Amino acid sequence: MIKLQNFINGNYIAPTSNEYIDNFEPATGQVYSLIPDSDERDVEMAVQAAEKAFPIWSKMSSEERSKILVKLSEGIEARMDEFVQAESRDNGKPVSLAAHVDIPRAVSNFHFFATAITHFASESHYMEGEGINFTLRKPIGIVGCISPWNLPLYLFSWKIAPALAAGNCVVAKPSEITPYTAYLLGQVAKDAGMPDGVLNILHGLGSKVGDAIVKHKKIKAVSFTGGTKTGEYLARTAAPMFKKLSLELGGKNPVIIFDDCDFDEMLSTTIRSSFANQGQICLCGSRIFVQRTIYDKFKTAFVEKVNKAIVSNPTDPKANMGALVSLPHLEKVLSYVELAKEEGGTVLTGGTRVQLEAPYDNGYYMRPTVIEGLAFDCRTNQEEIFGPVVTITPFDTEEEALMMANSTEYGLQTTLWTNDLKRAHRIADEAQSGIVWINCWMVRDLRTPFGGTKSSGVGREGGWEALRFFTEPKNVCIKY
Ligand code: NAD
Repeated sequence: MIKLQNFINGNYIAPTSNEYIDNFEPATGQVYSLIPDSDERDVEMAVQAAEKAFPIWSKMSSEERSKILVKLSEGIEARMDEFVQAESRDNGKPVSLAAHVDIPRAVSNFHFFATAITHFASESHYMEGEGINFTLRKPIGIVGCISPWNLPLYLFSWKIAPALAAGNCVVAKPSEITPYTAYLLGQVAKDAGMPDGVLNILHGLGSKVGDAIVKHKKIKAVSFTGGTKTGEYLARTAAPMFKKLSLELGGKNPVIIFDDCDFDEMLSTTIRSSFANQGQICLCGSRIFVQRTIYDKFKTAFVEKVNKAIVSNPTDPKANMGALVSLPHLEKVLSYVELAKEEGGTVLTGGTRVQLEAPYDNGYYMRPTVIEGLAFDCRTNQEEIFGPVVTITPFDTEEEALMMANSTEYGLQTTLWTNDLKRAHRIADEAQSGIVWINCWMVRDLRTPFGGTKSSGVGREGGWEALRFFTEPKNVCIKY
């Protein structure tokens, strides 16, 4: 049985407790590796290492840091297949998805921030005839990065890369449910020439080691992606300590489909935006609102396409969907199907667990599920399910669609399908979300601000936003 280790001060070491947690393979439901059950003692060791490394790393020129981060990015690329297999095995996602999305996007995150830092500039404000202000943007110091299980390395890199590029030292924790690629990353960083102590990767439970990261006095900023309830707890803990916080939280995203859209393109993209990664992407659209004039046409075509989706073990090249990430998560998602029925919904397709043949017979598979007939404000339509379950609801007017779309506590992203330019602008303007995709989904430009409004988070990641988050501005005023 493989035992993962913490990566502290450039070395792989056992947790101080010497205790380990089971790591399950979602495709088979079997334990396949063990991960360190770390605690505050390991956080203390990591902070000490980071503290020692900070003067070296923060004073290194941005060009030098950039070179190391480019090598890190190339190091993942050179081990692409190993990372892809590890991500798929750890998470249950199809190998093809890890190969096309997760790992390549992690590679480009490191590459993007490695080069972005060499172009990052700060502001200056001239006061006519009186003087000038200029703003220094200095690294914060030691920062904490905590990430979830759905896009493990990709979201881990989305935080670590800008934090390191900006000159900070990092104490990072991947999800205990999907620790493997973060474990591999330590060696890649070392091989890339990253000084010891700059990047420390700890494994274990959120309530234990994650909590200790958030509470550590010397960790000055925390970048967190995960559930809204966890984010709320983090905010309560970190705010009285005046820590900088970036919170990327849950979503319940609407997809609004008008009858003037390009139907076929909309249909195939909506299949992806509903069920990619088994519906476990914070950006998936789980509430689909369809203009009544094409509601029946959409319903028939959508359900027909969903029925063709192949749910199979992640190594099957034909698999459109793999396993959900864990048994408790599968059970949670299935419980929402029951709730939907109690709330008066009709399951048009799916709603059930899928039993594959051995050795996958204990894996966490589920049919993609489509439900109709629910009120827009029922629990099924308001709470985050985070699985392969979508609801479809007809609407008559633009106002009604927008009202239903904006009705949840969340505000991460809105997807809109229409060829009416004016309407597209109106809805983009009124949508209560941090991201709006028009006639597309998951199209990514690394320079853009990424994040949500309302209970979907505080702050933005991506581009300059991330580099600003990971630096402390200091204004210097010179009088003539
Ligand atoms: P989670 O909140 O349970 O855990 C996320 C991370 O936080 C894990 O590493 C976990 O160990 C850690 N953690 C848990 N309790 C902690 C505590 N008390 N202190 C410190 N750390 C703690 O979330 P999850 O189940 O791993 O991920 C799914 C959620 O993430 C969904 O709600 C999804 O919408 C959200 N998500 C959001 C985005 C986004 O960009 N907005 C992206 C991906 C996922």
